[in-house]
Amino acid sequence: MKVDIRQITAEPRVFHLKESAEELDIAVEGAKFPYSIEADFTGTMSGDEIICQVDIRTEAEVECSRCLELFNLPIESRLQYVVQMLDPVPETTDDDDDFEIIPKAQAELDISQRVRESIILAIPIKPLCSDDCKGLCPMCGANLNEGLCGCVPDKSDERWDVLKKLFDNQID
Ligand SMILES: [Zn+2]
Ligand SMILES: [Zn+2]
Repeated sequence: MKVDIRQITAEPRVFHLKESAEELDIAVEGAKFPYSIEADFTGTMSGDEIICQVDIRTEAEVECSRCLELFNLPIESRLQYVVQMLDPVPETTDDDDDFEIIPKAQAELDISQRVRESIILAIPIKPLCSDDCKGLCPMCGANLNEGLCGCVPDKSDERWDVLKKLFDNQID
């Protein structure tokens, strides 16, 4: 994903960029990206600095960690940072999330790395199809979001009795 720096002026200008996850080399275990990754880059030239804002949108297909159903997870994130054009580029720069330095002669700004990282960070380790996903019945495996399965928790499980005895003894 590249922006032509010569087209960035003192007036904020928006560039609509779109690439597939494959083109951006985005791979997250357990996630698929059936839709393209869209990024609106807003660039404003201010002296020898480019004020950058990137609004990223896509959807990932992931598996709910509770009910194991596949669902589409909308991803929206905004990046804001400043690019300074400087000659020569210092050998050790304090490049970080908010700031980077490029040579003045550079013709294009590549935002691929930032977009890639932002999408990878947006995928939760344990995705949930909804905050109140009821998950699967531990006894029959039915998806409890689709209704009650009729299983009754076995309250007379003797393992609890053993634990209870241990606990009672500790109190004594
Ligand atoms: Zn779920
Ligand atoms: Zn059940």
